[in-house]
Amino acid sequence: MPSFVITEKCDGCKAQDKTACQYICPHDLMALDREKMKAYNQEPEQCWECFNCVKICPQQAIEVRGYSDFVPLGSSTIPLRGTDSIMWTIKFRNGILKRFKFPIRTTVEGSVDPYAGKPAPDFSTIKQPGFFTAPARKE
Ligand code: SF4
Ligand code: SF4
Repeated sequence: MPSFVITEKCDGCKAQDKTACQYICPHDLMALDREKMKAYNQEPEQCWECFNCVKICPQQAIEVRGYSDFVPLGSSTIPLRGTDSIMWTIKFRNGILKRFKFPIRTTVEGSVDPYAGKPAPDFSTIKQPGFFTAPARKE
């Protein structure tokens, strides 16, 4: 179920160096056609439907769509981000609309240090199995 850019809504993030969807995709799948100023998923089969691009797009121009052979067409899942919450609008194929509001984290974007509090990696153990963040093994 790859991401899908609604070209009528995408404004190419106003020609910035890197678009929001390019910035956020953990798999580097989003690309920008600089001639048309429209983004697209360059390898849809690699998309793991994490919804990051869907949530960050300032134009609400991205959906994650199922393939028509196994997901009924006509449904959609659209997020609307606020400062402290995100509102999901779910449209079912029969037209029923449901909305769910969830709080979101309020950490300033880009300020998270994923290695904070973790030990420095020991490269002498690089060929050993395990993760450097794993607790020391008791022999
Ligand atoms: S984040 Fe949205 S508006 Fe910006 S380039 Fe991607 S799809 Fe287009
Ligand atoms: S849903 Fe996730 S993996 Fe797929 S294109 Fe968007 S950010 Fe990348």
